[in-house]
Amino acid sequence: MTHVHDRAVIVSTGDEVTVGQLLDTNGQYFAQRLMSLGVLPIEHATVPDELAVLVDTLKRSCARAPLVIMSGGLGPTDGDLTRQAVAALTGDTLVLDGAAREEIAAMLAKRGRPMTERQERQAYRPRRAECLSNAMGTAPGLHARVESGGGWGTTDLFCLPGPPGELRPMFAGGVVPRLRLDPSRVIATRLCHIVGVPEAECVQRLGDLTRRDANPLVGITASGGILTLRIRAETSGARSDAEAMVDQAEARAREVLGDNLFGVGAGTGWENLCRSVLGLMAERSETLGVVESCTGGMLGEMLTTVPGASEAFVGGMITYANALKESLGVRGETLVRHGAVSAEVAGEMATAGLERLGVDHCLAITGVAGPDGGSDSKPVGTVHVALASRGVALDARKFLFTGDREDIRRRSAVSGLAMLHFRLRGHGSGRPRLIWEVS
Ligand code: ATP
Repeated sequence: MTHVHDRAVIVSTGDEVTVGQLLDTNGQYFAQRLMSLGVLPIEHATVPDELAVLVDTLKRSCARAPLVIMSGGLGPTDGDLTRQAVAALTGDTLVLDGAAREEIAAMLAKRGRPMTERQERQAYRPRRAECLSNAMGTAPGLHARVESGGGWGTTDLFCLPGPPGELRPMFAGGVVPRLRLDPSRVIATRLCHIVGVPEAECVQRLGDLTRRDANPLVGITASGGILTLRIRAETSGARSDAEAMVDQAEARAREVLGDNLFGVGAGTGWENLCRSVLGLMAERSETLGVVESCTGGMLGEMLTTVPGASEAFVGGMITYANALKESLGVRGETLVRHGAVSAEVAGEMATAGLERLGVDHCLAITGVAGPDGGSDSKPVGTVHVALASRGVALDARKFLFTGDREDIRRRSAVSGLAMLHFRLRGHGSGRPRLIWEVS
């Protein structure tokens, strides 16, 4: 009996993944690609290079879904056990696949290398499995049919090599053509990014939209001061129907969140925030400069990840030392009286930057990123961010960020971008109040 591949379990193997040395980006890649094909990933399993654990996990996974996709453990070392695990699962012996051996030999010949016994090991497959060609490396993938024990009969198990540069082309060329997709099942997804509203308040404003049994299903994640809504609509109709359902959910979110919702699209929240502010300024032929102290150029770095940033972003200055802040135009008296981490200094950095850089908007950041350097009056995490823009009042805000040095620096930069976002949307200085802002 064959069954459509409507849901899948994703398995990643490798000691480096289980001990946290390596992030499982292969699992993320499979999940995203499967979703776009209308296949719902229902579980991710991460297992070490241990034969018994692998066999057990594969057996359990095959009983959960008609499709199991796995990465890693196909190489030539003794720690690569995927082949043996699949053979144990299907009760097959390992046999040499002549065509796979030829492909490995050809790949090695291109690199001027001989075929060793270890390399040849990779051409063995469980007797009833098939090898999947690897255009980018020597380890072939595997495809096996496994008695699932579930109501749908057999499960298709695909095993791909760990390196992403080998796995991705093999997924496209070897796995996708072998999938039995349900043409009447369509999944449409969208990410919407939100700033300036705490997660609990956002959920409250969204109301029924976030109900767990709703379709579209709307989930929220918070990261570094930005919330991301994941909208997922499922239908048995046309793709346009699923897209329309997502459109409706997005429209409803925009209605209740107003300017807090700043962008839609793949990528991280801060990347989208940079893209949004740069796009708005470019449309208006306005320019931005930055003057950074504790973020040491991070804000400029973030802005320049956006292709075409130069249409609005001119650059900036890293004024880490007080002497450099003074040479920019911050008054020595202000530094002495209020200290480098103060609203006054942030304000003068922004206004001096506006003139010196000749821009329409200038963001300035000065703070205590830690782990040392905090005091009772200015604990670690105290950061002042100021935004000077031509023709409007200076917006200077104080934040008390939590987290480690990296968190504090990133949250500082994101808060500056949020201030700019709201200014560009016509909100007055200090409005709306941001997360971590203190008076
Ligand atoms: P190889 O032929 O290179 O040995 P393999 O199938 O044996 O392939 P592994 O040895 O498990 O793969 O992993 C090889 C490399 O692939 C890892 O060092 C890592 O760089 C990358 N990799 C493995 N698993 C993952 C994963 N889950 N996410 C991202 N990268 C991974």
